[in-house]
Amino acid sequence: MNEYDSNRILDLTKKINYFKTKNVSETNCYILNTCHIREKATEKVYHDIGRLKKEFRNKTKPIVLIAGCVAQAEGEILLKKEKYIDAVIGPQSYHQINEMILNLENKLKPINFTEFDVIEKFDSLNSIKNSDNKISSFLTIQEGCDKFCKFCVVPYTRGPEHSRSIKEIVIEAKHLVENGAKEINLLGQNVNAYNFEKKKLSDLIFEISEIKELKRIRYTTSHPKDFSDDLILAHKNCKKLMPLIHLPVQSGSNNILEAMNRKHTVEDYLNIIKKLNTVRSDIKFSSDFIIGYPGETHDDYKKTIELMTKVGYVNSYSFTFSARPGTPAFNLEQIDLNDAKNRLIEFKKIADDIKNNYRKTLIGKIVKVLFENKMKSGDRYFGRDEHFNSVIVESNDDLTGQIKNVKILEGNQNTLFGEITLKLNQTNYAA
Ligand code: SF4
Repeated sequence: MNEYDSNRILDLTKKINYFKTKNVSETNCYILNTCHIREKATEKVYHDIGRLKKEFRNKTKPIVLIAGCVAQAEGEILLKKEKYIDAVIGPQSYHQINEMILNLENKLKPINFTEFDVIEKFDSLNSIKNSDNKISSFLTIQEGCDKFCKFCVVPYTRGPEHSRSIKEIVIEAKHLVENGAKEINLLGQNVNAYNFEKKKLSDLIFEISEIKELKRIRYTTSHPKDFSDDLILAHKNCKKLMPLIHLPVQSGSNNILEAMNRKHTVEDYLNIIKKLNTVRSDIKFSSDFIIGYPGETHDDYKKTIELMTKVGYVNSYSFTFSARPGTPAFNLEQIDLNDAKNRLIEFKKIADDIKNNYRKTLIGKIVKVLFENKMKSGDRYFGRDEHFNSVIVESNDDLTGQIKNVKILEGNQNTLFGEITLKLNQTNYAA
């Protein structure tokens, strides 16, 4: 979502003649768009500002803005501790960024823009065309979260759940397709909680799938509690909807899920997986896991491994618990750090084995790849198959924006390598 937001910030600043540059030393306005999910997010801001100060030691100081969730959560502290920062602007206020920059140009002092003004934000952004021109583009449809998992900062940094109108989203999707997008990834912190005038995510998916030149639709990130039957059926009935679902579970133990306030059980979660597998047999899953959450016993941890093995995730994103300031879990007693680290090492190894075994099954198979760009070296093209695996092929023809059948010849942990084939893909759908 930060990538989407950064692009939209650029669409806005163009209006006041501030354009993107790759050359930091020539910048006269430096915007650092931050994410607060990961550990040490604030330290990274200070580190970046330190580098900027060095760069501009003998030059005129640029305007320095900190945007995003770190600005939202820790803006006051940032401004107090680092005088080089001129202002902070939260993720729901960035539609005001031009006003902020112009005020700073005029030596007025707008310091802290961190209101939750999400409706006004999207109202302002709707009038500005999204200029992103990637083959695979992001489109924010929903923001914020009402779930309040005890470890998570999102409800405090992005605010309550808010869904944009279908009409606005379709207009933006059409713009992206006019710019060349063949795939759109619908974004939301709780994307499947999308609800606008009783229209759900499944309604939106069908609406967008009507755009002829759009070939693929994805969405991220889903919450198990909002995985309704209509969305499951959309995976059967909408052929543009891709069969890779990122469905975070965080833990395989009901005790820990309850302690986290996740609002679902392992059984609820497995039931969703079962239903999805029934409507479309080639569906695959990826997930997020927190290892070593406060109170996690060895038995709880083993249950998480059991769940991972049972589902057979093609990608698992796992981290040891990291206490985020301002969340209810911040003050909980943590488990032994070494235990948590050792569990994570073992967990990652098992997750990698599952992933590698899956990737071995792809060797010799024919997959449909949407090519996104030519690579810097040689006549090589990068794309993704339907399950979001990175695929590289060599070609003398420009493949950008095309979907081709590719026979996978080999692969490593991150990338598959193949050749274009005229043979047809074999995709099996359940009846
Ligand atoms: S549902 Fe997701 S975004 Fe919301 S609080 Fe839980 S982890 Fe955070």
